[in-house]
Amino acid sequence: MTVNVKGPQRTCVACRQVKSKKELLRYVVAPDGAVLVDYLQRLPGRGAYTCRSKQCLLDAVKKNSFQRCFKGQCNSIDDLEISQQLMTSVEQKIKSLIGMSRKSGQFIAGSNAVIESLKKASQLAFVVLAVDISPSIGRKIETLAVRGNVDTVCLFNKQIIGQMLGKEERSVMAVQTGLLADSLLNELNMYRQLVREN
Ligand SMILES: [Zn+2]
Repeated sequence: MTVNVKGPQRTCVACRQVKSKKELLRYVVAPDGAVLVDYLQRLPGRGAYTCRSKQCLLDAVKKNSFQRCFKGQCNSIDDLEISQQLMTSVEQKIKSLIGMSRKSGQFIAGSNAVIESLKKASQLAFVVLAVDISPSIGRKIETLAVRGNVDTVCLFNKQIIGQMLGKEERSVMAVQTGLLADSLLNELNMYRQLVREN
């Protein structure tokens, strides 16, 4: 059986690069004319695409590329509103991937559990440290992570990590290596890019 790994291709309406549909962001027009970020690429109707970058999204807004692509059938777009939509979509995707990895037992939360796991040299893909983690715990985990060749990502604050887990504040979370970890890291990097460009 032959599998087309790349799948269908689409063009970024901003920079005109052609990429696999899955590598791009999709947008559709709602019945009221609003342009929606279709992050899961499931909404019906004609789609417009940009690279997975805030820069291409904002360029597309600036150059009226969406109006052209949707043949004038959409409302004018507010930079901030659509960026916020994108952030929210990435957050939701991160939450759902965390949920999946928790269910499959590949997820570790809380500094003690992550430290134990790093000490046991279990197969961690990466560790997420809250930006407001206590410096001494942060250093301890980073040292262990470097020793175990595990990447660390500094993102979110303790409260947001806690919210994602349906708990009170949590300063650390980690995921064991696997496909879920790869997808999650991809979304975390996207989120980091969005935060940085804000
Ligand atoms: Zn682009």
